[in-house]
Amino acid sequence: MSESQRLRLIETAREMNRSGINRGTSGNLSVRFEDGMLITPSGMAYESLEPDDIVIVDTDSVQYGRREASSEWRIHYDIYAARPDASAILHAHPEACTALACMHKPIPAFHYMVAVAGGNTIACAPYATFGSQKLSDLVLAAVEGMQACLMANHGLVCLAKQLDKVLALAVEVEQLARTYLHCLAVGEPEILNDAEMERVLEKFRTYGTQDR
Ligand code: 13P
Ligand code: ZN
Repeated sequence: MSESQRLRLIETAREMNRSGINRGTSGNLSVRFEDGMLITPSGMAYESLEPDDIVIVDTDSVQYGRREASSEWRIHYDIYAARPDASAILHAHPEACTALACMHKPIPAFHYMVAVAGGNTIACAPYATFGSQKLSDLVLAAVEGMQACLMANHGLVCLAKQLDKVLALAVEVEQLARTYLHCLAVGEPEILNDAEMERVLEKFRTYGTQDR
């Protein structure tokens, strides 16, 4: 009965690459499932994935399936444990986000749309080796109170309530990163103050809900 969720996970993973925010076997994607999660396997091309390649990781970190879970399963596991607002998690290496992350630069409120990530600043977690518990700890701290963070010398993590939402958020954050890089090429952009970002966050509570 997890078949439809496995298929949706694979389709969204393929869309990560089609939308240009990721390439090859980089990145990983998961969705909450029963008490644990469904997650993409490690090091496999999304195009080749079949439903049985998707791995279940339960609340005791036990893996079920014919493949090994993503090397970053700890990030997904720790976010689901700490964040009831997360039901889908995406990790990718989008070009502009990764460029900023390589400069250890967070994305400040240079544009009001930074609020789509849930606050004023998209932080950049310090560097740690991919797949390590240390990296997961740093990401969990950096994403606190937010739905996205950069990962130094690595990439991006986003969380949301649904797979389509987490993909849309990652695409938006990558666009913000691209624009921010353009700004930095010219100088330092004007940063919106906290009071203005509060107003924007308040408006976002109802924005985009009229067709529901
Ligand atoms: P996996 O293929 O193991 O998911 O790893 C990709 C990645 O981006 C590691 O950070
Ligand atoms: Zn990665």
